Amino acid sequence: MTPEEFRQAGYAVVDWIADYWATLPQRPVTSQDPPGTVAAELPPRPPTQGEPVEAILTDLGKLVAPRLTHWQHPGFFGYFPANTSGPSVLGDLVSAGLGVQGMLWATGPACTELETVMLDWLAEALDLPARFRSTGRGGGVIQDSASSATLVATLVALHRAAGGRWREVGVDRRYRVYTSTEAHSSVEKAARIAGLGSDGVRLIEVDPTTRAMSPTALRAAIEADQAAGLVPALVVATVGTTSTTAVDPLPQIGPICAGYGVFLHVDAAYAGAAAVCPELRFGHAGLEYADSYCFDPHKWLLTGFDCDAFWVADTGELVEALTVLPEYLRNAATESGAVIDYRDWQVPLGRRFRALKLWFVLRWYGVEGLREHIRRGVALAARFADRVRADDRFELVAPHPYALVCFRLRGPDGPNEELLARVNATGRVFLTHTRVAGRYTLRLAVGSPQTTETHVDEAWALICEAAASATPA
Ligand SMILES: *Cc1c(COP(=O)(O)O)cnc(C)c1O
Repeated sequence: MTPEEFRQAGYAVVDWIADYWATLPQRPVTSQDPPGTVAAELPPRPPTQGEPVEAILTDLGKLVAPRLTHWQHPGFFGYFPANTSGPSVLGDLVSAGLGVQGMLWATGPACTELETVMLDWLAEALDLPARFRSTGRGGGVIQDSASSATLVATLVALHRAAGGRWREVGVDRRYRVYTSTEAHSSVEKAARIAGLGSDGVRLIEVDPTTRAMSPTALRAAIEADQAAGLVPALVVATVGTTSTTAVDPLPQIGPICAGYGVFLHVDAAYAGAAAVCPELRFGHAGLEYADSYCFDPHKWLLTGFDCDAFWVADTGELVEALTVLPEYLRNAATESGAVIDYRDWQVPLGRRFRALKLWFVLRWYGVEGLREHIRRGVALAARFADRVRADDRFELVAPHPYALVCFRLRGPDGPNEELLARVNATGRVFLTHTRVAGRYTLRLAVGSPQTTETHVDEAWALICEAAASATPA
């Protein structure tokens, strides 16, 4: 493909994406085809001769697009949002076109330096504690996901707990990780990958109403483990849990971690984005105690997957834990100590130029534009919650500080499961579920910039209709 051929094909692809976005509201949110449908329609072997881009685009529209869950759809209310945006796609396109592999500062100086500045910009936008800025001992890096951020935090915490000897001697079975019963599954996964096994994770009980970690129970677990000769290494606190967006109390958890010398990682994968709005920064109270922090711009900040922003307060400790320097990567810039080599801040060696999409997003929307996006989502969720609150058949199951509403029909689980299936089968909206204190609960998460009052009201109308037929009078 010559540059001129690329130009023509590229215009066609951009047109295809723009048409896709424009026609989203008319599409069913999820595919109703059975497993294997797509595979059965694809040729069993690759073409012998090359094909024009038009042929690929035709099949994209016919075979692929109808068999997707449309995450950008205005009726998508499932899980947490994973929203992209025009500027994010364009930044990613430039990254793909440049094809830079930014493992070292020397392999793409602007790739590294733009990332450092973007993470400082984001820290400013969220008003994160000064200790995370690159102007001091701290700094930020883009990971592929919050799961990777938690894994890296776990490895650094183990290095610290082992007195700076983890990278030489690894771990033994005495190390312990603490997180709440409501924490994301990536905490257990990180502990397993790090060699602690799931037995190395202590699940701390939560307050039955707020679903937030109990500081008293945390302290008791750490003390009991210490008394038993175990080594408390890491606490993972959550700001905005996946199930209900509960906020663990950092002002109480922080001093406990500091008192026992335990590393504190704060996982704000979804809710962190809300902190671009000054009035939505309550979850970050006490964040100055954290050794590391992450949130996903790829969830609620109009930046396409993959983009997790991860900060540490002490980059020296992070690099010490993860660095390896084979001869073939030696270079003068690294040896000078004057540059950042992001390969030492993550698990893989190689990395894409992901800072470009953040740069495009932050410059296109500005912080004010991002605040508007977040505030719109919070207001739409509040509107929906008002409907639920006003209807005696339903109950709100948890507070809704952000843009997720957890609700259910009063009574047993069965009619709730049936309700969710009926509503999703309409193809107009897509909601998912969770369990809160054992009870089947529906989740409605607002996040798409295309979602308006009309879509939220339609979701409520469909839910009411389904409720009428799911619960015999
Ligand atoms: C979504 C989520 C994660 C996982 O996010 P990835 O970036 O997909 O790894 C981790 N923690 C919390 C609290 C989440 O909501």
